[in-house]
Amino acid sequence: KDTKLWYQHYPEEIAPSIDYDEKPLHEFLQNTTEKYPNLQALHFMGKELTFHQLLFQTEKTANYLQGLGLQKGDRVAIMLPNTPQSVIGYYAAMMAGAIVVQTNPLYTERELEYQLKDSGAKMIICLDVLFPRVKKVKDKTDVEHIIVTGIKDYLPFPKNMAYPFIQKKEYGKFEKPAHNSYGGHVHQWGNILKEAGRDVKKVEIDPKEDIALLQYTGGTTGYPKGVMLTHFNLVANTQMSQQWMYKIKEGEDITLGVLPFFHVYGMTAVMNLSIMMATKMILIPQFKAEEILKTIEKEKPTLFPGAPTIYIGLLNHPKLKDYDVSSIKACISGSAPLPVEVQEQFEKETGGKLVEGYGLTESSPVTHANLLWDKRVNGSIGLPWPDTDAKIFDSADNMEEMKINEVGELAVKGPQVMKGYWNRPEETNQVLKDGWLFTGDMGYMDEEGFFYIVDRKKDMIIAGGYNIYPREVEEVLYEHEAVQEATVAGIPDPYRGETVKAYVVIKEGSGVTEEELDKFCRKNLAAYKVPRIYEFRDELPKTAVGKILRRQLVEEDKAKAKQE
Ligand code: AMP
Repeated sequence: KDTKLWYQHYPEEIAPSIDYDEKPLHEFLQNTTEKYPNLQALHFMGKELTFHQLLFQTEKTANYLQGLGLQKGDRVAIMLPNTPQSVIGYYAAMMAGAIVVQTNPLYTERELEYQLKDSGAKMIICLDVLFPRVKKVKDKTDVEHIIVTGIKDYLPFPKNMAYPFIQKKEYGKFEKPAHNSYGGHVHQWGNILKEAGRDVKKVEIDPKEDIALLQYTGGTTGYPKGVMLTHFNLVANTQMSQQWMYKIKEGEDITLGVLPFFHVYGMTAVMNLSIMMATKMILIPQFKAEEILKTIEKEKPTLFPGAPTIYIGLLNHPKLKDYDVSSIKACISGSAPLPVEVQEQFEKETGGKLVEGYGLTESSPVTHANLLWDKRVNGSIGLPWPDTDAKIFDSADNMEEMKINEVGELAVKGPQVMKGYWNRPEETNQVLKDGWLFTGDMGYMDEEGFFYIVDRKKDMIIAGGYNIYPREVEEVLYEHEAVQEATVAGIPDPYRGETVKAYVVIKEGSGVTEEELDKFCRKNLAAYKVPRIYEFRDELPKTAVGKILRRQLVEEDKAKAKQE
């Protein structure tokens, strides 16, 4: 059997290879419900829903969607923040045989239209406040039905519906709901429970072939493409996560759902994992630091997957010390580099573990993480996950493997790697070679099998012929006590080609000056890497999972330069 360098660090509880359940993703909701019907599944704005109630409402929604004529493989778009409806809609669409297309509630009409057209979505489930936007673009797309829901208008929780009401049932006796729709193609969520039956026409799913999700990505790096993730991709990545968190017992924990479910990271690390492990999910529709601190104190979540900016936001809140956050046991941070300072401070505050992981939409998303209760290396993205191979190549064209500690492009292989980009064979062939997914991230592996990301290939700055990775400069800035957030980018420079610019948010009341930061950077970085320009800002633009939008800052600068 193939041994990998990183297996030496795996504790006994983590197997290098896992027996995956080859079944559709939504069946995990059914399995968990059979085991724990009366455990709380969701917590939302002070109310709770048991697994049984969640499944009940999911089946009704699936029935309703099928009643609208949904066929296997049709695309159903979801445009919701974290709410019970976002969980119900997601599993219901899959149960009805559809492919889910997640859209970001912040999308403008133009972005939404692009994604609906590109995916060919036939239906969309959206929040009522987003309805005007959806309605405006509907006729330019293939959308036939819009299902509208208010944030609090999730289905009334049926009372007295405890076990043994639930039975294993054969699907098949399907009755079409009588649609109480208005405007012909607009349906109110509230009617679903009233009208729909619980029967779902059984749709045969081949987990390894059938697509469960079209997840759009590339928004921060190019035009968005739909990543085709199969049921098996998602199930495999969730089962790997479960292995990695081996100390977490089924049915015993509580997950804080701050990461949005419309991003693949929140979807896997919070939603699918909670359903599989029967942990209660606390749904947070919007990031508001103090609300979250309050929720942690009151609801005592134990698991808190997040992104660096989320942890930074909480750690810098002036009232942090007023709240008890000691329930937190285990957190994996992904989506952007985790500054070591942040990791250390967070662990001190909570007493729990926070480790860095890594992934991308194209791999469902996680491929690497540090071990939570065993060896970890600060500043590293950790070890490849079970059944996940990783290599550093010189380029996707040559596919020559780099030596240990040499920087090249990271490529990964495993059951979580996508089938390809939707309708884009050319782009697919550029990133998928012999089963290897080229990540577009530059990095290296050390003697022990730990991996490091130096930066995105495209974000590398070339100044005066030197290669500079923004991340290295950012790490130094974060070490300065006055810096709350920082990002670094290359901007055009007539002499050096590009020059390093830092965008910095300083901590309230610190009053640090550019000269002081410059001095600090000069002490810690080679001269050619030191930022030549600083811009102090109140905040930095971010994606929904809190990734700082470097390129947007550069574009803003370009636009300003043009005007002048
Ligand atoms: P997305 O597809 O939106 O999840 O973005 C994936 C990208 O996020 C990766 O290709 C990396 O560039 C970046 N990323 C994710 N995790 C990390 C990490 N721990 N350190 C550095 N970059 C990361």
